[in-house]
Amino acid sequence: MYPIDQDLNELTFQRMVEAVPSAVLLVNQKGKIAYINHYAERLFEFGREELIGQGVEILIPERFRKNHPGFVEVFFKSPKARPMGAGQELFAVKKSGDEFPVEIGLNPLVTLSGSMALASIIDISGRKAQEEMRKRTHDLEIRNRELEQVAYIASHDLQEPLRTVSNYITVLEEDYSDILQETAHSYLRSMNRAVDRMNRMIHALLNYSRLGSGRELTNVDPSKLLNEVRDDLKNLIETTGTQLIVGRLPEIVACETEIRQLFQNLISNAIKYHKPDVIPIVNVGTEIRNQKLTFYISDNGIGIAPEYLTRIFFIFQRLHRAEEIEGSGIGLANCKKIVDLHGGEIWVESVVNKGSTFYFTLN
Ligand code: ADP
Repeated sequence: MYPIDQDLNELTFQRMVEAVPSAVLLVNQKGKIAYINHYAERLFEFGREELIGQGVEILIPERFRKNHPGFVEVFFKSPKARPMGAGQELFAVKKSGDEFPVEIGLNPLVTLSGSMALASIIDISGRKAQEEMRKRTHDLEIRNRELEQVAYIASHDLQEPLRTVSNYITVLEEDYSDILQETAHSYLRSMNRAVDRMNRMIHALLNYSRLGSGRELTNVDPSKLLNEVRDDLKNLIETTGTQLIVGRLPEIVACETEIRQLFQNLISNAIKYHKPDVIPIVNVGTEIRNQKLTFYISDNGIGIAPEYLTRIFFIFQRLHRAEEIEGSGIGLANCKKIVDLHGGEIWVESVVNKGSTFYFTLN
């Protein structure tokens, strides 16, 4: 054990611990919190006065609490510096109930108020997310290699013959205009539209295959992204009179550009597929489902029949003809790929003529 040096100026010592950029707790032999530093207050979102004197179990997810007093006892029986729960995944819980993975180092400390356990706690959610992402990406890369080859062929090889077709259409329209009958002109217009559509599909497929290629995980504030999306969709929101209501959204560790696109696709769909003559109301928020932070985007739109709820997440699957509602049918496939990259899930619950709610988790 390391007795605190009585000569060390107590104030300096306290300032030092306060300044440490990781969470530090002192726990007494009864398992009660005797001290927490400023970083720990921020990490757990508790005020110091709320924690001092409380059992340390308050910072542990409910399902692990039962066994904890036993661990405290074992520690004080043979106090020595060691990592907590070696080889096991450890989780802590914030005041809001949000869980996060941690690493905890324990050190015995003799203080004037008796023996204590000094716990230093590191939030490893960022690191875990990176690891998980790397693993998922690897799996996904294997699955996507074939698709990416198709996309490559699409970009380099299919575009060329498509350009040729398009050029000859122009030649026919311009140089043979006089000798072509009206029916032939209308065929050429249809061919032009088909060429345009195919061009858009090729580009959409390319974007899909490139999604997440420059990925980098950072701390992302979804509320900020939502403000940007609101700006980008300003026109659509104003012309439809949409009410876009955004609830409290916690920070996440994710690929910012991709998450922004995810919100943008889901919100623009929620507006696009509104009922005629009904003002779209779109709610964005989070809830805890199966102990996971789950984002939702709900609308009061046309809804989706049960038989299509899975199909719509595949590439180029649309329930509407291009002439009815504009779209390429790749938006939700992009959403699925983004969520897959983050190790999450995406699904939709819907009632025809009442509306749909898209849900997603990230890991
Ligand atoms: P796109 O919108 O370009 O057709 P998506 O992949 O984004 O492509 O969507 C696929 C299909 O899912 C859409 O054609 C539409 O029929 C259906 N859909 C998506 N979002 C909604 C929604 N919020 N309400 C009703 N239908 C939807």
